[in-house]
Amino acid sequence: MASLYIDIGGTWLRWECCKQKDKIRSKKRDLVKFIENFLQKNGSIKKVAVSFAGQVNKGEILASPNISIKTKNIKKYFTNKYNIVFKIDNDLNCALLAQKDRLKSDNIALFFVGTGVGCSVLEDNHIVRGKNNLACEVGHIPFKKAPFRCGCGKDNCLELFCGGEGLRKWCEYYGLKEMTILELKNSKIKEAKKIYKNFQKAILYGISTLITLANPKILVLGGGVLESNPYILDIIEKKICRYALKESCKGLKIVMSEIENPSLEGAKLL
Ligand SMILES: [Zn+2]
Repeated sequence: MASLYIDIGGTWLRWECCKQKDKIRSKKRDLVKFIENFLQKNGSIKKVAVSFAGQVNKGEILASPNISIKTKNIKKYFTNKYNIVFKIDNDLNCALLAQKDRLKSDNIALFFVGTGVGCSVLEDNHIVRGKNNLACEVGHIPFKKAPFRCGCGKDNCLELFCGGEGLRKWCEYYGLKEMTILELKNSKIKEAKKIYKNFQKAILYGISTLITLANPKILVLGGGVLESNPYILDIIEKKICRYALKESCKGLKIVMSEIENPSLEGAKLL
C-alpha cells in the first residue's frame, strides 16, 4: 500500500511517497490540487497524511494564518471523492510525535520558529489538544502592539516579533532590506537593532511562557529561524531562568531538534 506524506508550512511544501521526496515553494501551490494530481497519477496511493501549519481539528482546517486554502473540510473532501485514508494534524503535533519517538520521553514541549511560531506539549504521553485541538498556540499570545497584523487577524501576537514573516514585515515597515537575524543583531542601524532586541525578548517570553505553563522534562527548539541561528540556544540557556518560573527550569533539558523535517516524519506516524 503506497502512502503520500506531506508537510506544508508557510514557505515550503515537503512531500514523500514511495521513497521519492521533494520540496517546493508552498505559496505557489494549492494543497488540494497538489494532492489530487498526485492521486490521479498514482492509483496505488491508499493513504495521505498531512502535517499542516495551521489550526486543524478532526480533519477540518479551522484557520491557517500562513497558508491560503479554500477547502476547509479537507478530510471529508478526500475520503468522499477518493477511496483513501486521509489524516491531517497540526504541524507541531506531528513534530511532537516524531520527537516522542526519538527522545523516548513522556513529557516534552516543542517551541519552533519558522514563518510563524508553533508549540506543542506532550503530557504523560498524551498530546495536549484542548477542546478544538487549539491548545498551546503560544505564537498568538499577546506580546506587544505592532503596526501590522498577524495572519490570525490580531496585531499584538508574539510571532509578529520573532517569526520569519513578522521579521520580514518589520524590515519592510522600517524601509530596510530583508536581513537575517545575525545581520539585524550586528547592524549599526537603530531600527535593525530594535527589531533584533524585540526578537530576542519575544523568543525568551514565548519559551518561558511555555515552560511555566507546561513544566516539561525536555524542551525541544526547532524551525528554520532557530536552526539557522543555533547560537540562540546559548542565550536561551543563560537567560531563561530570569523569565520562566525558577522551579520549572530545574532539571529542564533544552535541546535543538536533531530530526530532519520532524513534521514530515511525524506525518508518517499519524
Ligand atoms: Zn496571531
